[in-house]
Amino acid sequence: MIQMHDVTKSFDGVPVLNGVNYTLSHGEFAFLRGRSGSGKSTFLKLLYRESEREHGTILIDGTAIDALQKFELRRKMGIIFQSYELISQHTVLENVLIAGKALGRPLEEIEAEAMRLLTRVGLADKVHQFPNKLSGGQQQRVAIVRALLNKPKLLLADEPTGNLDRETAQDIMTLLYELHREEQMAMLIVTHSEELLTSGARVSVMEGGHIDE
Ligand code: ADP
Ligand code: MG
Repeated sequence: MIQMHDVTKSFDGVPVLNGVNYTLSHGEFAFLRGRSGSGKSTFLKLLYRESEREHGTILIDGTAIDALQKFELRRKMGIIFQSYELISQHTVLENVLIAGKALGRPLEEIEAEAMRLLTRVGLADKVHQFPNKLSGGQQQRVAIVRALLNKPKLLLADEPTGNLDRETAQDIMTLLYELHREEQMAMLIVTHSEELLTSGARVSVMEGGHIDE
């Protein structure tokens, strides 16, 4: 799903990623840990091309990322963030449907899929609410559903529980693990919290510009 070889990135001459190698298999569930400022978000941004690497190669699902248009690349992945990134003027359902409309999918099809997933994450009775009426954990569930609507093969998560209390954070991690199994997708979850690591899952650590297993 991800093959990264010898990737470097620096800001203003200061190296942040210094020859990163990383592989994630299809359908794998894995964590990436590391101190604040170690380069975890930068690493993810290179994968979804919010930022460009200096050297090295990155393949997503077997294709070099430069061989794809950005929209083609992003179609293969869902992305969630610490801050949820929901649109406050839109309802829960509208926030989710945006992802399908962007790909020009028929409304009936995406509405059915959105309702299936919103029900799965326990939000069937919230679909017409606005995000600011929901708790943080509920907002992250909406963001997860939006990320999964187009059935990506890969979900990238940048500290998805960073704004949540411990119990809610654990619930979200459990939900992500279950969805990875049910929807059969690879997930790469960045977290700085050791407590939240799902037992048995692979954990890599970003340190000194490298990733170590
Ligand atoms: P993490 O997500 O692990 O906390 P980041 O990838 O956000 O780390 O940042 C790694 C380092 O790169 C930090 O020193 C940060 O200040 C720097 N950095 C990240 N993005 C930029 C940018 N756009 N411009 C300049 N420096 C940046
Ligand atoms: Mg970060």
